[in-house]
Amino acid sequence: MAVVEASNLVREYRMGTETVRALDGASLSLDGGQFVSVVGPSGAGKSTLLHIIGALDVPTSGSIRVDGTDLAALSDDEASTFRRHRVGFIFQFFNLVPTLTAWENVAMPMLLDSQSLRRAKPRALDLLDRVGLRSRVDHRPSELSGGQMQRVAIARSLMMDPKILLADEPTGNLDSKTGTEVLALLSEVAHEDGDRLVLMVTHDAGAAAICDRVVTVRDGRIDGRDA
Ligand code: ADP
Ligand code: ADP
Repeated sequence: MAVVEASNLVREYRMGTETVRALDGASLSLDGGQFVSVVGPSGAGKSTLLHIIGALDVPTSGSIRVDGTDLAALSDDEASTFRRHRVGFIFQFFNLVPTLTAWENVAMPMLLDSQSLRRAKPRALDLLDRVGLRSRVDHRPSELSGGQMQRVAIARSLMMDPKILLADEPTGNLDSKTGTEVLALLSEVAHEDGDRLVLMVTHDAGAAAICDRVVTVRDGRIDGRDA
């Protein structure tokens, strides 16, 4: 079963008397176990698409199913629960809490879900080990390099074991060697557990070589060959 099934998505923003169509009939089907990049010119609708798939925004019309859930039918509370449990988010500027250590940052999604520290800590340490940061678990973000901070963010995104990871320009703030390492890690994360989808918006020229699929967004639509 496809992890993402989007059909004819339209997203309009009303700006005074004008209407901007960020998405204009975008259709897309994405399977799990893949590392997929979303590319296209600035203003094409990439972020809007990612936000709708992550249940942060709702389409004006069209249908969107993610991991079997009809996102258009969710209440605000249900959408919030969906985001916390079923989606992992990775950002360009990492979004780590500066006062917390690496393992505390990674544990945060489980602690916010009212799960015990006794459960959360060993899982956080395992995930940090998996992303190659065993020796950095007690460091704060300011004591880590950009690549290490992004690894912490990737570990955090895996904490709730989501079926889908959404990454918005994850290498945008990294030098090219570090960026390539982060892309390799994201690829591993997509392929390791069989059915996890990693979906990344990127301008990184190196992405096409490592991704299983490249989806091009143009003028609010998905290029036909990519749908
Ligand atoms: P991309 O990520 O490809 O650069 P976006 O999805 O951010 O594109 O934006 C697509 C279009 O929708 C752009 O014309 C943008 O200006 C417009 N847009 C995006 N978000 C909003 C918003 N909150 N309000 C008004 N217009 C928006
Ligand atoms: P709640 O609604 O329970 O306060 P949030 O929706 O704020 O929870 O957060 C749930 C998840 O969505 C978090 O993992 C957070 O990183 C992500 N998130 C929240 N707002 C945004 C945003 N504007 N862009 C990208 N991700 C976001």
